[in-house]
Amino acid sequence: MNCPICSSKQNKRKYKIEKFVVIECPKCGLIRLDHDFSFDKVKKLYKKQYFNNPVFSIGYIDYAATERSLRLNFLKRAKRISRSVGEKQIRLLDVGTSTGYFISECSKLNIIAEGIELSEEAVDFARSRLKLTVFKSALEDFRGKKQYDVISAWDVIEHSSDPNKFLKKVNSLLVENGKFFFTTGDVQSVCSKLSGKRWHLFNLPDHLFFYSKGTITKLLKKNKFVVKSITYPWNYYELGYLIERFLKKVVGLKNVKLIKFLAYNFISRNIIIPFNLFDIMEVEAIKK
Ligand SMILES: [Zn+2]
Repeated sequence: MNCPICSSKQNKRKYKIEKFVVIECPKCGLIRLDHDFSFDKVKKLYKKQYFNNPVFSIGYIDYAATERSLRLNFLKRAKRISRSVGEKQIRLLDVGTSTGYFISECSKLNIIAEGIELSEEAVDFARSRLKLTVFKSALEDFRGKKQYDVISAWDVIEHSSDPNKFLKKVNSLLVENGKFFFTTGDVQSVCSKLSGKRWHLFNLPDHLFFYSKGTITKLLKKNKFVVKSITYPWNYYELGYLIERFLKKVVGLKNVKLIKFLAYNFISRNIIIPFNLFDIMEVEAIKK
């Protein structure tokens, strides 16, 4: 696959992480997983058990255990969107909405939010338990006719196997001057550089691309967006989740039962702390 930003055919090996190879484009600097996953293969990964995965070390061990912190972070982001857009009523589509906590928080504000999600379990949860409007689809296959004032995608774009196709679709679903808010890791952050191949966001093979301020700006420009801001906000996390990530990525533990036992005991499950490694970008881009 040619580089999605500059179409270069060349690449150089950056890291070998277990059986995976992470490559870098020598021309534009884009870092990505060297893979030949088809879009269908990628979709399969999310259909079942991604959000409550007791066996494999991909996906989340226990997504539901992080509900409180997720809702706190999502409400903060919804408020930011509300302030930035400033309309009386904002129509929003959340891509990769998972169990729908973000659109549920949006409903506390002036945002009419719908979601789109691939995981069957997550969609069922959002619809039946939270009574939300969630379409079961990949963004690239989505046939919705509506246009939205805002599209959001929290930690999603790095999972997309064809980021140009993904962004074209986002663009087509936005009204003129509509806004795209999203988060993704920054592979050129100090934390990433210090961690090398042990960086906690080298979640392979679910993460396919590793953007930086520079490469995400180029990619957005190529797909008719202008970057308004890139910030590194603080987020809340359950202590248990931070322990899970630490054990998996820094210690290198593979035994999911043991990780679960160590990370999600009564205390760590219930403590929420603000945390920031300044390696997650929150991007606001405008359709041009
Ligand atoms: Zn390139």
